[in-house]
Parts: sequence; C-alpha cells; structure tokens
Amino acid sequence: MSLPLELTLVLAATRDMGIGLNGALPWTGLKKEMAYFARITKRIMVPQQQQQHSSSSSDVPPGPALNAVIMGRKTWDSIPSRFRPLKGRLNIVISRSAGASNATAAATEKPDVVMAGSLEQALAYLHHQAQDVGGGCGRVFVIGGAQIYAAALALHPPAARRILLTGVLSDFTCDTFFPLKLGVGGDEEEKGWKRSSKAALDEWVGEDVPQGVQEENGTRYEFQMWERVD
Ligand code: NDP
Repeated sequence: MSLPLELTLVLAATRDMGIGLNGALPWTGLKKEMAYFARITKRIMVPQQQQQHSSSSSDVPPGPALNAVIMGRKTWDSIPSRFRPLKGRLNIVISRSAGASNATAAATEKPDVVMAGSLEQALAYLHHQAQDVGGGCGRVFVIGGAQIYAAALALHPPAARRILLTGVLSDFTCDTFFPLKLGVGGDEEEKGWKRSSKAALDEWVGEDVPQGVQEENGTRYEFQMWERVD
C-alpha cells in the first residue's frame, strides 16, 4: 500500500445521487454491474515502481495480498449473509459498537473481517499492517454507505482521490444520498472533482470497461471515474 493512504470511493447512484432505499439498494438485478464491482475491488494492481523493481532485482518485496473494502455497519448488514464477507478482499466494518476510543481496529472470528470504531481507526489499522506487519494490503476502497462516504470525503488532508461511479440513468425512489453531486449522465465538474477519460478509467481498473450506456433488466447505467482536482 502506498503511503500516504489513497482512498477510492465506489458507488452506484441515480442522477440525484440516490444510493439506497430502506437499508438496501434501490434497484435489483444488475448482475453485470455487481460483477464489475467485484472485479475492480478484487484486482491486485502492482504499482509501477514495484514492477520496475522486480525487473531489475531478485530482492522483490512481497506484493499486496488483498485489497481492502471499508464499509459502514448498515451496508455490512445489507449484504446477504451468504455473500459476506466479500470474498477475496479484507472487509473493514465501521461501527460505534467497535469502540472509537480503542487504539486499534480488531480482527474478528470471521476470516478477512476487521471491526473499527471509526474511519480513522480503520486507516490506522491499514497503516500498521503495511508498515509494521509488512505485506499489508493493496488498494483501499470505501464502499458505502452515505455516512462512511461523507466521513471519507471529510478527511484532512484529503485522502479520497478517486470515485468509481456507476451512474444510474433510470429513475428510482431513494432515501439515502451520496454527499457530492457528480453530474451523473453529464460531464459537468463538481467543485474539486473532474470526470476522467475512458482511457484513464481502463488503466486504473486494469480492464477494458464497457463504454456508453449499459442496460440490464430495463435499468440503464454508465461506468464513470471521477478524480479529485488539486
Ligand atoms: P452506512 O452503511 O454508512 O452505515 C452507518 C453506520 O456506520 C452507523 O449506523 C454506525 O454503525 C457506523 N458509523 C457511521 N459513522 C460512524 C462514525 N463516525 N464512527 C463510528 N461508526 C460510524 O449507512 P447509511 O445509512 O449511510 O447507508 C446505507 C444505505 O446505503 C443502504 O441503503 C445501502 O444499501 C446503501 N448503499 C448503497 C451503495 C451504492 O453504491 N448504491 C453502496 C453502499 C451502500 P453503528 O450503528 O453500528 O454504530
């Protein structure tokens, strides 16, 4: 993991940035969209620096074992129990019941699940894993919900560098909203954020991402990436 820590937010949102309804997703049946989420959050991308190092030396540092997905307790609860923890990723669940005043986040009896009392505590845990334990984890994704996205966007200095947005173009009733307006369906800039090109999205996620409007079960959506403008 590169330091300082870089966070990528991943979400699907309607044009008015709706992300949830009654503790669940407002839509169902977006299998390809969910498969995209799984691929991009699981894929281990070796940093360029490390690639150069490995071609010039036999003393290769260990690559990251897993990417991390950080989520709020309500999002964790919304994942059907047969699908959690999300496989092939370190799952970090934020809950006040984990004790924000504790010094560190704590592993649980479930493999690949860590409970943290705050986002800061989760990030401290990942720093510790990377620096003191070695091997650490790869990319760090914040996967919701609204409370944890807001906490990630409020970090100072800014750690949320990138947003992988599935812009849902069909209308859905929502009661939970992402805190930034990113102009889903358009290219307009949100203060401090700029939509990236398809080439930049492909390069960052490590695949040829389907371009333009996709449709599944009558729901239209588009894969986008937004980056913080410094
Ligand atoms: P969250 O998933 O953000 O979880 C909220 C919980 O996180 C709180 O109840 C609390 O847990 C814990 N928490 C929040 N802030 C803190 C803090 N500062 N310190 C410690 N713990 C904290 O809930 P939301 O209601 O915002 O979002 C859930 C909704 O979002 C659902 O409808 C879900 O389906 C949707 N969603 C949609 C996504 C999308 O891409 N469309 C992605 C992810 C979720 P506790 O109560 O245990 O203390």
